[in-house]
Amino acid sequence: MVSATHSEASEYVSGFALEVLDELWIRIMESRLALQALAGEADLNFDELDGDLQAVQGSAREAFEAASLVHQGAPLDAPWAGGPSRPRAIFARHSAAVRQGAHKVTPSSTLAGQLERSLWQLPIRAEAEDAPDRPKCTATVRSTGDNCVSAAIHLGGGVFGTQCYSHASTAEREQYKIHHKALNNERSHAHAALLDRQREAGVTVIEIWLQHRETRPQPMGDGASPV
Ligand SMILES: [Zn+2]
Repeated sequence: MVSATHSEASEYVSGFALEVLDELWIRIMESRLALQALAGEADLNFDELDGDLQAVQGSAREAFEAASLVHQGAPLDAPWAGGPSRPRAIFARHSAAVRQGAHKVTPSSTLAGQLERSLWQLPIRAEAEDAPDRPKCTATVRSTGDNCVSAAIHLGGGVFGTQCYSHASTAEREQYKIHHKALNNERSHAHAALLDRQREAGVTVIEIWLQHRETRPQPMGDGASPV
């Protein structure tokens, strides 16, 4: 084990490197979007290639986030091996330093991160059902006479019934079912909208790629192929 403490950590990441890593992460996402937008142009199943790209997208995110921590001078525990640390080792070394009382640093917000959230994450809506102050059922358990400990039924829009699903009236149960059906519809619409956004972005990426391809210098006779 190397004997340096976190205050002696001397790793460095330049702003230039950070920018290139951000761009690299974007390029991987662009590749996935372009592949998706090929549906209708090629009768092939590209799920394995998309899976590989998805894994690379995750690695690119980790590389950027670890680089961002180092760039910001986040406190790091001593390295556990010689040579430069891998991104996950940077996260682990930073967590170890935080557990020892150092201040916590979060990776900086970036263009790639915003893009990833807008194209791959469904909007998360706070569910009234998860509210910590959700009321309890007011019924009593017939067999024991004890108060029912279940949470009251959620009827939608933050409105709760007075009893849990099993003690609720038929009318309340009906309202609960209607609410859940609406919720499921809303979710599948949000998912469809996300797929639409991915498709549109993919078409744009392909257009940009093809424009670049037209202006790309041709491979030289000596085998050199400038980008
Ligand atoms: Zn109950």
